[in-house]
Amino acid sequence: MLEDFSPIAPEPLYARLAQAPADTLVLCASMRIAKAQQAALGRWQQARGVRVWRAPQLVTPEIFLADLDLQQRQTRRLAGQPGATPLAALEVEALWQQVVAEDEHGQDLLRKGEAARKALEAWRLCHDFALSLPLPVAGESSETAHFNRWAQRYQARCARIGAIDPGDHRAQLIAALERGEGRVPPQVVWVGFEAPLPWQQTLQAALRARGCEQSCLLLPARAGQFSVVKARTAEHELRAAAHWVLAQAQRDPQRRIAVVIPDLGARRSDVLRVFDQVLCPAQWQVARAPQARPYNVSLGQPLAEVGLVRTALLLLRLMISGLDWGAASALLCAPYWAAQRARDAAAAADVQMRAHGALRVTLGRLRQASAEAAWRQTLDGLVEASSERGMTGAGLWAERFSRWLQAAGWPGARALDSEEYQAQQAWHELLRDLGRLDTVLGKLSARDALAQLTELAQRRVFQPQSPEVAIQVLGALEAQGLQFDALWVAGLQDEVWPPAANPNPLIPYDVQRQAGLPHASAAVDLAWAQRLTQGWRDGADEGVLSWPETEGDRELQPSPLLRVVAAEVPRCQVPSHAPGWIGLAQSGEDVWLDDAVMPLLQTQLKGGTGLLADQATCPFRAVVHHRLQARALDVPQYGPSHLDRGNVVHAVLERLWRQWRDQATLCGLSAEARAAQVEAQLDEVLAQMARAAPERLTPAMQALERARLGKQIGEWLAIEAQRPPFVVEVLEGQAVEGEARAPTVDFDGISLRLRPDRIDRLESGARVVLDYKTGGELKTQWLDPRPEAPQLPLYALTEAEVAGVAYAQINVKNIGLVGIGDSAELAQGIRDVHQTQAFKALQMGWFEVLDHWRDAQRALVQEIRQGVASITPKNPAVSCRHCDLHAVCRIREHTFLSDDDESSSGDVA
Ligand code: SF4
Repeated sequence: MLEDFSPIAPEPLYARLAQAPADTLVLCASMRIAKAQQAALGRWQQARGVRVWRAPQLVTPEIFLADLDLQQRQTRRLAGQPGATPLAALEVEALWQQVVAEDEHGQDLLRKGEAARKALEAWRLCHDFALSLPLPVAGESSETAHFNRWAQRYQARCARIGAIDPGDHRAQLIAALERGEGRVPPQVVWVGFEAPLPWQQTLQAALRARGCEQSCLLLPARAGQFSVVKARTAEHELRAAAHWVLAQAQRDPQRRIAVVIPDLGARRSDVLRVFDQVLCPAQWQVARAPQARPYNVSLGQPLAEVGLVRTALLLLRLMISGLDWGAASALLCAPYWAAQRARDAAAAADVQMRAHGALRVTLGRLRQASAEAAWRQTLDGLVEASSERGMTGAGLWAERFSRWLQAAGWPGARALDSEEYQAQQAWHELLRDLGRLDTVLGKLSARDALAQLTELAQRRVFQPQSPEVAIQVLGALEAQGLQFDALWVAGLQDEVWPPAANPNPLIPYDVQRQAGLPHASAAVDLAWAQRLTQGWRDGADEGVLSWPETEGDRELQPSPLLRVVAAEVPRCQVPSHAPGWIGLAQSGEDVWLDDAVMPLLQTQLKGGTGLLADQATCPFRAVVHHRLQARALDVPQYGPSHLDRGNVVHAVLERLWRQWRDQATLCGLSAEARAAQVEAQLDEVLAQMARAAPERLTPAMQALERARLGKQIGEWLAIEAQRPPFVVEVLEGQAVEGEARAPTVDFDGISLRLRPDRIDRLESGARVVLDYKTGGELKTQWLDPRPEAPQLPLYALTEAEVAGVAYAQINVKNIGLVGIGDSAELAQGIRDVHQTQAFKALQMGWFEVLDHWRDAQRALVQEIRQGVASITPKNPAVSCRHCDLHAVCRIREHTFLSDDDESSSGDVA
């Protein structure tokens, strides 16, 4: 135990290390602490004017034992007695997965991978805390009984392949040390071990037996000034911490500054985003090569999530089993494969695949749809390379996968930056590790080999090397035993700090509590969190402890360890924009464009009614959709969308009325004949749609849609049969008979493609325009000065003899007409404007209504011609909700840090 050792202060230790570095071994709890002590020793030497010194041995106990292992192997090799090989960590993981998956109980487990991880964790805990196996079992169906059985089989398998478990190997090394084998220095200093684990205590005993004088480093408490603050949200808290760090670094660039976040793993990407914005905004300049960050985040990300490696795994999955559309889309747009000349074709394939609503993408399907030569050549290369896929060992699979990726042009043609290069090296190492599993895994199919590789990549943490920096962002564990000049600890709400107990389910709880296993009980975690909280206060000259007050709609409470009365705590101030951002904008490197007004139109603009609808809703939206032709990509989904259903209704009614042409024919049909004709047309239209996207519209789905839409169309036709007699003249913009109609209409200088769903002529000679409405909100504010639904007014203005306009609602809620016109005789549901209060009050008849519509549309056309492109949504609560341009107009940034959401962002300009 450390209490038995005499404490040593830093300066005497450094003096000792400076005098005889080989005589003292410094064992540190982590390599981070070892590095911090190396740096502290360096500063101490430099303060004494020393420029060069011999590096002492500062390592973790694991590295010290690995050195001892090396010495022993050399000795054994010289003696011709090689001995059993310890398993590598990844071999241990693979063996445990096999053992759990093959067990009769393992077969019933839903998440075998997770069960194997828990079993391996339990195995390691048993070794670290010297728990003897088998563990005591309480009750017949105890999970512990399964674990005991798995542990036995794991040991048997190790013996069968002539390997030794690393935990057992460690115990053997410590025993050998105690017996007098290996070199040990006369003095050992322990650093950063709050409560040594039982195996570390065994090592201490072995060193004592070898006559080592042991002591522990005692860092003086700094007892700095700490304040406690609260933030409105976690985002505000991070932003405030980043600004505080910036101010600290500006005060003195040499200051060692840290931000500790207990749940850093879950918040890593938010930390990077916010800290980049505040501390190195240049990272966000698209045209610039990425630069080294001035801060370091301790927790890396799983290698499988790093872009370059993710692309490699997706490529292999595409070649072996195909991808769902989201993964396929990410792969087709990834820059890490295929020749540059094939990239545009790959992106076009993504658009095409989405438009077809393909939910599953295979190599064969992509190849079928490929027309561009370079792209086709790339896909042919993939098909050929991946044809070699018979069962074989992991080593050969690693070689095959390398060849497949080579055929795909991975990792792309452009030069890799430092981080990407390190990811590429990590990938090669991963393949080598897969090859090392040959003995353990035996022969594998392509799918199993890829599953193993993916599992390895998910478990491996990728932390690119970066230059030493003074600003660290750390998790609670990583910060243990370190000291800083300035420290901000964020995220100290009661749900996070102290952490909730999380005992391993395979070890009996009372055994865990007795042995003091981490997370065994709330009391264990509370004691640990208390020690750390005190350690933060003692380990920095100044600092801040904070928590966010809310998460979504929920109110959060401070950690009880902060010992604060919430009402007395000040809220941290958060500047809305980082000075770096503002500096970036003012640097002159970026060009400011006044994009509230676009350049004047030099050519005649063309568009449908959507152009005027978008201009009325939000001028910026009209410019992006119609002048820049930019739209969000389609998102394939299971089953038909609202749009699909609308298209089906349009297509079926068009087909029916092209046959019938007038109401008399409809009325002459018996109810059965009418229903049969509707069904026949529905079948054809749905089958056509299913041919384009078979996974989306399965036969069962087609049957459901036929029943649903058939009922709605049937009800609508019953209403059509009750209307005053009519002849259908125009269907989907095309004349039913007679001369073809002009494709566009000139309206005040812009060329509009108008395509009325339907125009009927009544016996009186009057014409009625119908717009089918199969979903969405009905816009019946007929006198709106800025109409967001201009179709019907535009048709009324550009067609001759129109006496009324109406929406034909055919949807699950409503079936019937809603419109206005010159007379109530046009149809039920079409109101006579002369008899309607709103129009009468304004003394407006039908022609005055037409005049009003003309003025409103002309005003919008005028705006379009002048290039008005301001971000001024007409009704933000509604206009922005269903808009696809949030990422382009960045409406959320306009409202950032206000209490309002988009629903109250009407004042942005
Ligand atoms: S999200 Fe709102 S502000 Fe942005 S373009 Fe769409 S409607 Fe305009």
